[in-house]
Amino acid sequence: MIHCPVCSKEYIKNKVNFCTNCGWDLTTLEEFSEFYTQKETQKLTWAKGMWQKWQFQQEKYHQLQSQLSQCQESLKQSEEKNAQCKLELQQLNKDKNINNASLNQLQLQIDQMQLELELYFSNNSQLQSEIEQNKSRQLQLENDLSQAQNKINEYQSEIDQYNQRKKKKSCWDWDE
Ligand SMILES: [Zn+2]
Repeated sequence: MIHCPVCSKEYIKNKVNFCTNCGWDLTTLEEFSEFYTQKETQKLTWAKGMWQKWQFQQEKYHQLQSQLSQCQESLKQSEEKNAQCKLELQQLNKDKNINNASLNQLQLQIDQMQLELELYFSNNSQLQSEIEQNKSRQLQLENDLSQAQNKINEYQSEIDQYNQRKKKKSCWDWDE
């Protein structure tokens, strides 16, 4: 069992020439390891670095992909909510129009009642003033009546006096 020097994938010795994970040439690994020059070591270091960078980029790409799909999901939910809100808004507008119509109807009824009330108060004050006039007329009539009664009493007393005088006179006439 050997490990790829770049990506560390495990292999059975002499089964494959190239790493299936990163493509590194595995044939030089065991047989020629003692002949590795400094240059080849540098190449291996570079390849390891590139592989790590690649892995990092891959990871980042997957993270971004997952963030993107989360964003898309949120967007979809927002759009659904938006559509729901639009429907509710339409319903509210309908209700508002109905309420406005009822409100206008009520306002008309209130105006009508106001007019009737004003009319009632106006009639009431007219009746009140007629009652006052009738009262004062009644007082006047009572006054007139009492004056007339006084006159009648005066006449009655004059008539009585006249009758008494007449009676006396007839007595005197009788005496003669
Ligand atoms: Zn490899």
